[in-house]
Amino acid sequence: MRRVSIFGATGSIGQNTIDLIARAPEEYSVVALTGGANIEQLAQDARRLNAQVAVTAYDDKLDALRAALEGSGVEAAAGRTALIEAATRPADWVMSAIVGSAGLEPGLRALQQGAALALANKESMVCAGPLMLETAKTHGGRILPVDSEHSAVFQALIGEDMAAVERVVITASGGAFRDWPLEALANATPAEAATHPNWDMGQRITIDSASMFNKALELIETREFFEIEPSQIEAVVHPESLIHALVGFRDGALMAHVGPPDMRHAIGFALHWPERRDLPVARLDLAALGQLNFRKACETRWPALRLSRSVMETRGLAGAVFNAAKERALDGFLDGRIGFTQMAEVVEEVLSQLSSGDGLTPATLTLDTVMRADHLARERADAIMARRAAN
Ligand code: NAD
Ligand code: MG
Repeated sequence: MRRVSIFGATGSIGQNTIDLIARAPEEYSVVALTGGANIEQLAQDARRLNAQVAVTAYDDKLDALRAALEGSGVEAAAGRTALIEAATRPADWVMSAIVGSAGLEPGLRALQQGAALALANKESMVCAGPLMLETAKTHGGRILPVDSEHSAVFQALIGEDMAAVERVVITASGGAFRDWPLEALANATPAEAATHPNWDMGQRITIDSASMFNKALELIETREFFEIEPSQIEAVVHPESLIHALVGFRDGALMAHVGPPDMRHAIGFALHWPERRDLPVARLDLAALGQLNFRKACETRWPALRLSRSVMETRGLAGAVFNAAKERALDGFLDGRIGFTQMAEVVEEVLSQLSSGDGLTPATLTLDTVMRADHLARERADAIMARRAAN
């Protein structure tokens, strides 16, 4: 039996992962499931999958989790220390599906145990790509991309020589506001931003899709994961979300990965890699689809794309700064401190403040330096938002 753990089990990716695992329970021995405030879901899944331990991120939810697991034989634990402890329990395959830079350390710990890490948490690659790859290499582990675009690129590269790759194109749906007039964006509300035309995902990534911060993170993730030059990476708007990515080769061939917008494909591919197995995803009827559309990804509408270019060039701790500033700006948008279009302004200001000085320039990536950069960027973002509110 394969030992598996799921970090962020109660979220959108976590639940899709559980859906796949629960279809063949005899093949898996579940080590740890982790979640947040949704204790009922966490306990229900931990019982159903007979997990060794269930961990909530919140200390004050421990009693509730204990009560919900009573008599099940599943251990209950709570808080950051418990989460990290659970991440160090040996497992063969681990799903990293916590949202935000909070997912970095658990993923690193799993890699240090030599696990294969299915990586939905793109923030890990954005903040600490070289550290992630090096940790996997040192401990004989492996990182399997779960972000649909990166899974698509990974699949298009099977059997290919990286030296023959000319470019990588990742697609973007354009999110909730792709057809809105530019002037209307400043007044967009969180509820409006949190609806996605094609994918059903967690709230934060859905809003990041509307602002294209999600695509910006993915461009950086592409650079870090596949170790290719920024000039070889592009994003294109593809409203149908059926082609997830394309890889262009030196002979002019362009290999596209096509499939329905269902994350169980990318999750299942990572779960069964290097094999391919049956997966419960819809099969496309191409004639019924009729056509596929593409548009330029406009950097005026989506300034996050422009910002990601400088991060890909700078590398080092710039990714951690960019991601943390974005996370705080998104908090600020969600709680009404700033408007939709101000998120990119805040991130740009944090990046320019921290690019010179503050000891962030040396590119030594350790968990400590990354988390320090993350912390500093959050402080700066908060200060900038407070100053704007006061003006
Ligand atoms: P989600 O909000 O639905 O779920 C997040 C999970 O992380 C939950 O289990 C939550 O309890 C847990 N969590 C949140 N904050 C935490 C913290 N500080 N400490 C510990 N646990 C915490 O998010 P999601 O949409 O499933 O996305 C998860 C990750 O996968 C993100 O990095 C996202 O960018 C990436 N991703 C998601 C999709 C998708 O279709 N949802 C696609 C590609 C990539
Ligand atoms: Mg994606």
